[in-house]
Amino acid sequence: MLAGVEHAFRTVIVNLLCLQCVIFLVTDILRIISHLILSVIPVISVQSFHTFQLQANAKRISSIDSIEDCRRYIGRKNGKDFILLGEGSNCVFVEDYYGEIVIPKLFGKSIEEDNSNFFVDASASENWHEFVIWLLANKVYGLENLALIPGTVGASPIQNIGAYGIEVCQFISSVDYFDLTCGEIKTLDAQACNFGYRDSVFKGELKATAIITKVRFTIPKQWTAVATYGSLADIDNPTAEQIFTEVVKIRQSKLPDPELTGNAGSFFKNPIVDKQTADTLANKFPGMPLYKVNDGESKIAAGWLIDQAGLKGKTINDIAVHQNQALVLINTNNNGCGKDLVALVDEVCNTVFAKFGIELSTEVRCFGHEGELNLLAKKGEESELTAVKNAKGTR
Ligand SMILES: Cc1cc2nc3c(=O)[nH]c(=O)nc-3n(C[C@H](O)[C@H](O)[C@H](O)COP(=O)(O)OP(=O)(O)OC[C@H]3O[C@@H](n4cnc5c(N)ncnc54)[C@H](O)[C@@H]3O)c2cc1C
Repeated sequence: MLAGVEHAFRTVIVNLLCLQCVIFLVTDILRIISHLILSVIPVISVQSFHTFQLQANAKRISSIDSIEDCRRYIGRKNGKDFILLGEGSNCVFVEDYYGEIVIPKLFGKSIEEDNSNFFVDASASENWHEFVIWLLANKVYGLENLALIPGTVGASPIQNIGAYGIEVCQFISSVDYFDLTCGEIKTLDAQACNFGYRDSVFKGELKATAIITKVRFTIPKQWTAVATYGSLADIDNPTAEQIFTEVVKIRQSKLPDPELTGNAGSFFKNPIVDKQTADTLANKFPGMPLYKVNDGESKIAAGWLIDQAGLKGKTINDIAVHQNQALVLINTNNNGCGKDLVALVDEVCNTVFAKFGIELSTEVRCFGHEGELNLLAKKGEESELTAVKNAKGTR
């Protein structure tokens, strides 16, 4: 009898142990499977990491907290093997990205001076608008026209940010970057940065291989107001602080606040055409705003083209051309999807081309499954934009 009980007891214990083994095994298998899934499928939302706020995922989001951390990415390409992000105000994720997003967290700024100039250093992750405020507080004047541009100091040279008559390249003396091809910090002077309209070497030759770590500015002590734009011209002898306040006021009244309504500022670049094309267009479309730039070229206001093409307020589901600013596309309820954005971009480009024969290009950088998308295919070629539009199951 006692032996029977002991046997039953042993059997129960053995069964329990077996069951426990099975549970451990199943848990381990599940853990391995979920790890595999997580390493293959993007599940981390990037919605709050870009100001257009489309719903999209990436596989991983990590940060670079020191120059030493940059070494992890040596030999890899930004925009393909991983994506560097500042504050995501010039980037749109139109699809899930099957890779890692990397956010530099490099802070610090300082001012030195001689008799004629201020020499200002700022690390890449400093917020641009806070930087402008800090300069004003230190009585360093010159960048006030660029107030309230979203984003980081590190991204400012990349597309040579500009507004209200000023471009940041006028004040940049050099840019430090971590060279992903050799693992060294390099310094480029302003000339080597090859600045142009919303352009620099960091959008060209060094697009995939530079992590910008620091920007240096030389700002003359002798300050001259640049107050030709709109209501800035109404202020008598404006101070830098007055220009700052007015620029903030104009921007707040004209542009949608990305905190409230997803957007990436101007979605399209203002096209630049040669003199002959400008003359032809001026004859054909009296009233077309053409602004002379270098070498006989003229810049056309893309917002005007979109407006005249009847696209102001044009909406595809939750994505729209802004009612007052035709150059700005918006994510109306912060609920839009990449496919609708791509369809709207396509429609805007095609309609403007049909009416004016001018090809628009995007100022904003768009990303899909494999990294940066080239949306600049010439007419007749299939752009990656069309490929995204036709993709099945793309949100
Ligand atoms: C409402 C609104 C208004 C705007 N107004 C203006 C305007 O008036 N003028 C103007 O010029 N722009 C304007 N912009 C565009 C945007 O603010 C600028 O392009 C800004 O410099 C982007 O900064 P970011 O840190 O958000 O860059 P992100 O959008 O995060 O990145 C932009 C590109 O730079 C790369 N990048 C970012 N950081 C680094 C780094 N440290 N090293 C190397 N590559 C990097 C990224 O890979 C990406 O390709 C506006 C945007 C918004 C949303």
